[in-house]
Amino acid sequence: MIDLDLYSIQDFTTSQYVELLSIAKANYKFIGYLDINLGENFILWRHDCDYSLNRSLRLAQIENEQQVQSTYFLNPHCDFYNLLEKSQSQIIKNILELGHEIGLHFDAAYYNIQTEQELDELVLREANWLNDWFNVMPKVFSFHNPTEFLLSCERDTYGGLLNCYSKTFKSNISYCSDSNGYWRFRRLRDVLESATDPRLQVLTHPNWWQESPMPPRARIFRSVYGRAKYTMNWYDKGLQNCMRDNFAGSASNLIFLKQIDADLYHNYDYLWNRGMFQSLYIELYHLHQMQINQICKLKFLREWNVSLQVVNSLFVNDILTIDRWTLFQLVFNNSLEQICNVSENTCQEYIKVFNQLVNGYSSTSSTKLEEGCIYLCRIIENLANWGQAQDSIQYDGIIMYKLTNNDLDESLKLSEEAIQQFPNIAWNEFCQQIELKKKNRLLNSGS
Ligand SMILES: [Zn+2]
Repeated sequence: MIDLDLYSIQDFTTSQYVELLSIAKANYKFIGYLDINLGENFILWRHDCDYSLNRSLRLAQIENEQQVQSTYFLNPHCDFYNLLEKSQSQIIKNILELGHEIGLHFDAAYYNIQTEQELDELVLREANWLNDWFNVMPKVFSFHNPTEFLLSCERDTYGGLLNCYSKTFKSNISYCSDSNGYWRFRRLRDVLESATDPRLQVLTHPNWWQESPMPPRARIFRSVYGRAKYTMNWYDKGLQNCMRDNFAGSASNLIFLKQIDADLYHNYDYLWNRGMFQSLYIELYHLHQMQINQICKLKFLREWNVSLQVVNSLFVNDILTIDRWTLFQLVFNNSLEQICNVSENTCQEYIKVFNQLVNGYSSTSSTKLEEGCIYLCRIIENLANWGQAQDSIQYDGIIMYKLTNNDLDESLKLSEEAIQQFPNIAWNEFCQQIELKKKNRLLNSGS
């Protein structure tokens, strides 16, 4: 068990953030960087946007609800976002509309700065960029990953912008930061509650604040892969809008899944394009097994009116002993070979591949596995279409079936009246068949 408390992981949620703001409001006066008066007590609330503008907007909205104004420092050379991208520049406009300020988060590593004069020129140049792009001239800047040289640049201003790392700041204004997604020095809540620092600058990086607690790397993962997913969707939409072919090679066999479960599609698409066919094959195989289970369950509940309790107990205890295709045959009196348009032999061959894979004995070539993934996609898609076309269930078996209140009512009612009405004929026959299969299996294994 990982000790989440070690890094105060529970602190970094938006609900905790709201609490921190209210403690800060109770104990401090919030001011902007242009209103600093060192004779007074105050708090400066700053965000260095290092990883995610989407998370920045989320915090900007929370602050607006809490009637707090803060300053968002933007890095034009950021590796994690692009300020000129349409969706991202819209975020900056939204943050400004919410009443917040922007500053420059200056990434000196982009240049090879040797003198304070160069620093002057480059800070001003980048501030002018932000002014051009967002029609607001930043009045303050902070260093991104400051080096020893940058920390020795202690003048109050460079390029006409206030320096958050100046001698004046360092000597007069205390500092508390969430760098790296945990508290390296003081815990912000303790600092705000004790309120012993008369003047305080709080630095948060919006990406560290998520809806639920997670380790710092998981917070970065969420932002980076969320962006990647968005970018791939953008590519697909672009071709669709222009009515151009979107040639994905054999991975196009997955496309049916996009409409049903976009997240699942995205994960499988990733495995396919990375050529990870062993993992993909196992995933698709499991998906298909689950699909049959789900479709059969719905038939029991909806058409045969079997109680949920009884259905669940069957799946836990009895059905495990027979394979899914046989189960389907017994329940629907219809063969999956026919519905999915595959031969018994092909089917057996792919079951063998799966068993070898999970037992670690597979020497199946990557090409063969890719063919297997295509085969599995085809049968999953065919079964999904078939299930949706059945009047009694209208269900693809893939999205997790959510029981309606009606189902639950029926299920409860049936439990109460179980003695009189249950089991019904179809269910009774089905259970006998299962018993028979189990017996045959035992006989065969004993001989
Ligand atoms: Zn930074």
